[in-house]
Amino acid sequence: MSPPPHQKRLHLAWLALALGLIVYMIVLPAVDAARKRLQPQPSMRVLEDMSFAEQVRVRSAEAFTAVWFFALGGTIGSFLNVVVYRLPRRQSLVLQRSHCPVCGGQIAGRDNLPILSYFLLGGRCRMCRAPIPLRYPLVELTIATLFLLLYFVQLISGGANLPVREPNHYRGVVWIIFYTKWDLVGLYLYHCYVFCVLFSWALIQGDGHRVPRRSQLVALTIGIIPPLVWPHLLLVPLHQPLPATLAANPRLAALAAIGTGCIGGLVVGGWLRWSRSRLSFKAETAVTDDPTVGCVLLGAGLGWQALLSIAVFTLVLKCLVAFVSRWTPRGRHIPILGVLFAGAVLHQIFWRTGVHHAGPWWPGPGTGIVPLLVPVGCLVLLGMLARRRWWSKPGVLAKDIDGIEGSIATEGVDRVHSMGITGFDRRDEC
Ligand SMILES: [Zn+2]
Repeated sequence: MSPPPHQKRLHLAWLALALGLIVYMIVLPAVDAARKRLQPQPSMRVLEDMSFAEQVRVRSAEAFTAVWFFALGGTIGSFLNVVVYRLPRRQSLVLQRSHCPVCGGQIAGRDNLPILSYFLLGGRCRMCRAPIPLRYPLVELTIATLFLLLYFVQLISGGANLPVREPNHYRGVVWIIFYTKWDLVGLYLYHCYVFCVLFSWALIQGDGHRVPRRSQLVALTIGIIPPLVWPHLLLVPLHQPLPATLAANPRLAALAAIGTGCIGGLVVGGWLRWSRSRLSFKAETAVTDDPTVGCVLLGAGLGWQALLSIAVFTLVLKCLVAFVSRWTPRGRHIPILGVLFAGAVLHQIFWRTGVHHAGPWWPGPGTGIVPLLVPVGCLVLLGMLARRRWWSKPGVLAKDIDGIEGSIATEGVDRVHSMGITGFDRRDEC
């Protein structure tokens, strides 16, 4: 009996991965070593010239560390799937084991591997054969890719994308991971935390739920404590030069930066919320679609300057998405927090380039009032542009949103859900 096609594809994927690793870890260093033999040798051996065996060791370490970070991201993505399902339903995150929502059977450990299990099971529950939504492996893949991206861009690059802080001179997996540079690892983990929270909130809102207030507070508190303990986690200070009292006390300076970031988050979030109303293609999620709490998190975690740039990125992306989706047959709703997440990841990659090379108007630690008018003006103009009616799909107007908002004010969000006014996206949990 021949194996089913999805298993065949999986075998092929494994084979490709193994081949890729062999080429990367053994073939390339061998070619490099042979090439060096043919070249005239310098009289002294320089430090960068590694032997074949050394290259194999370093490259194996690089490949395995990258796979490990990818797997870590996948595991956290798998946990976020559970969070996104259970938080709005007020279910415990830790007390319940993962179970199939159709047959109720507990999911065994071997069927709970991030990304892989979905393909190993052919996209169906092992017990009742009910289909598992494709969204689960996609969420895991997104977070795994995010971890891998930041691993390359931010961690083993020696912080090459981070502003203000000088990038490490010695970079690469050996110098950053094995001779651990804890400040960089801390920054990496902290930024991954901020992005994961933002992404899970975007998914919850995209499903038409509100993020419960208590979990907002818990996530924000967890996000605020690390920079108060380790002030170096906040890269961009409130302003440069700092007043003498703040310069003398790094924790007080961090507190001031976090406070300003939170206030900035409320203002920018309010502006994004106002500007998005007519861009929401789906009236069902228009009410829960609120970017404010995400902006507060970004303002507190990355600073008010980064938040301002991210908001501009977000509005540009949102207009692009809206523009393109006019020609798609079914306007798929993307929550504004989802666009904010994409904007924040994009900004993370170009953070240093923007602050140090884009010009005085890019919000940075020393940006003055007059250059600051450029990003603020962009934000205002883009927000007004985004709100214009001609972006939106026909049929969703501000008055529809006002109507639903009115119903929610009088009936409560759950009542409106049960009345069927807002679409309640039933999903399976695995
Ligand atoms: Zn089942």
